[in-house]
Amino acid sequence: MASILYLDQSGQLGGAELMLAEIARQVGAPAHVILFDDGPFVAFLEQLGVSVQVERARLGVTKSGGWFASANAVPALLQQVRTIVRHARRFDLIYANTSKALVVGALAAAYLRKPLVYHLHDILDESHFSQMNIRVLTSLARRFATRVIANSQATADAFVAATGDRSRVDVIYNGFDIAPFLADQSDKRVATRGILDTERNSFVTIVVGRIARWKGQHVLLEAARSQKDWTVWIVGDALFTEEDMQYQRELKEIASTDDLVGRVKFFGFREDLPTLYAAADVVVHCSTAPEPFGRVIVEAMLSARPVVASNAGGAKEIIRSDAIGWLVAPGDVDALRETLLEIKRNPVLADLRAQAGRFDALSRFSIDTILGQIRTSVEKCVS
Ligand code: UDP
Repeated sequence: MASILYLDQSGQLGGAELMLAEIARQVGAPAHVILFDDGPFVAFLEQLGVSVQVERARLGVTKSGGWFASANAVPALLQQVRTIVRHARRFDLIYANTSKALVVGALAAAYLRKPLVYHLHDILDESHFSQMNIRVLTSLARRFATRVIANSQATADAFVAATGDRSRVDVIYNGFDIAPFLADQSDKRVATRGILDTERNSFVTIVVGRIARWKGQHVLLEAARSQKDWTVWIVGDALFTEEDMQYQRELKEIASTDDLVGRVKFFGFREDLPTLYAAADVVVHCSTAPEPFGRVIVEAMLSARPVVASNAGGAKEIIRSDAIGWLVAPGDVDALRETLLEIKRNPVLADLRAQAGRFDALSRFSIDTILGQIRTSVEKCVS
């Protein structure tokens, strides 16, 4: 198979990066990953045996801002393109995994006349990006991407709406190494709660994901406010911006108000998610903007936990029927509370749906199935 140079702007462990790690490790081609920033993702890839290096770039761009906001943005961009061109000469294909990686990768691929895959993990609409960023990204993708892998129908639809081009888009969901989620955790449930100082009989709701305002952790806190026998576990960290840090401070303030104090636990970033999912009564996804995919929802299903998710974007593709989970309107605190109360009152129904959810997730999201689809998409570029 063709040799692949993977590009990703982040050194953090977000959903796009976790998927990239599996692809680079297992897709079967000689692979090298270049990150535009340092961080825990480097060691994570090294541990998996994936060849990785950091070529730091200060492109001075934010999702909601413009591309050329700072005076040195253009020289920094060109410098990074030169660096990537140097590396990319010895590879058959460039694989851009994030938006800034697309910008750099598109220019490098055009210069070298190499095929480019754009793995689209974002919904390119105004709920996530500025108009200007959408224009830049879609123009570059339209001109230079040989194929676009969209991580859900929702990301594909936004891309097609912005470009009018469906012909190069493959919808391929994220894939998962399922074994850790299938291990029997039932005996650890009580122990985990004990270690975590959480009462055995408390109704534990867990929300997993990076701390960012649109991820909506505050919605779950508000839903739990009046329910004195609920505990909220918030797992994840503020990974990217000062705005994320500010939101994290606000969440901690909300959690320390009289109604909630002592019932909310912040975990920061964790790697033992299967154990935490298994110890919780219900997994909540409460993003207020459409989720491009929603890995945490699949992980909850693989763990056979009841899951409630925001009815938008990739989340409603994952929970494709009410036989396998619950969907509520994004940001609707009352609807979320009512749904959680229904789950609490009906543990048998909750368990039935959770088991059906596991079965459904196993059939759709195993890493082997998904890697096969990615291989096919990549092969279309180099044949
Ligand atoms: N994650 C993790 N530890 C944490 C928080 C999140 O390993 O403390 C993982 C989580 O298991 C999931 C990913 O980060 O696989 C988040 O992906 P998702 O698609 O839910 O959101 P994204 O970060 O891509 O917006």
